[in-house]
Amino acid sequence: MYAPLYLSNECLTTCTYCGFAKGLPIARKTLSVAQSLREGEFLRARGYRHVLLLTGEHQKLTGVDFLGEHVGALRALFPQISLEVQVWNEDEYRRLAAAGVDGVVIYQETYDPDSYARFHVAGKKRDYEFRLGGPERAARAGIRRLGIGALLGLHEPWREDAIALAAHALHLLKVAWRQELAVSVPRIRPSASGYSPEHPVTDRELAQLICALRLVLPDTGIVMSTREAPGFRDALVPLGVTHTSAGSHTDPGGYTEPGEAEGQFEVDDTRAPEEVADALRALGYEPVWKDWDALMRAGV
Ligand code: SF4
Repeated sequence: MYAPLYLSNECLTTCTYCGFAKGLPIARKTLSVAQSLREGEFLRARGYRHVLLLTGEHQKLTGVDFLGEHVGALRALFPQISLEVQVWNEDEYRRLAAAGVDGVVIYQETYDPDSYARFHVAGKKRDYEFRLGGPERAARAGIRRLGIGALLGLHEPWREDAIALAAHALHLLKVAWRQELAVSVPRIRPSASGYSPEHPVTDRELAQLICALRLVLPDTGIVMSTREAPGFRDALVPLGVTHTSAGSHTDPGGYTEPGEAEGQFEVDDTRAPEEVADALRALGYEPVWKDWDALMRAGV
């Protein structure tokens, strides 16, 4: 079990499908360290010990120093801290690892270079190759946990992205064999940018993909997003899902000061963490809130 914690929705990049894209007239907010600690305390009280910190791409407002400061403060509350932010060079990842970052999540969104160029029209994220190399740079810098993913529904046919994602994972299992790897296949949702999916992936197709990923990647984590509806999420768990969030907010400050900023996308599963934990128990699984501690690395 992990929880997303949005630190900022400021962004200087334009991805045509995203509600945080540069220039959109949305309510923007960047949390202070005190505000992110309040969010962290809220999540810790609900049982979470692993948080995923997220920002848009704003080199000045949410750079490495900003992230290091927030991670340094949140370490007192969480033994596991991952980032889903802009991609960095190897030295920058080394600084983030030293600050206490345990995991890095970098979705390629689509692996098709032409579709990638069509949806990522301006900003740092436009560089396909730099983004694709991000997980390997993070691994070389000592980040222990890697997450990759494709945003299903962006590129048609979606199966090409699914195959490319599996190939990327198999490659990382070879070149980053010390790292723990997870894959994610979120289905794209409408956003404040006015985007609405051109090629929606059906429930049946997503279930088929989870089965295929589990067969191709038997020891790799599979992440399930709260974008999906509760009953469907519960039905996918026995097919091989290992990581999930619950009670998520996608707006900065959304746990303790909701409604002050725009969220990145709408959440479909609004159940509280304990309700999702109960649903997992009812399926015969044990909800795990903490599966790592930096002490386990002592002496390595
Ligand atoms: S996907 Fe990320 S980089 Fe692209 S507009 Fe949204 S927040 Fe910015």
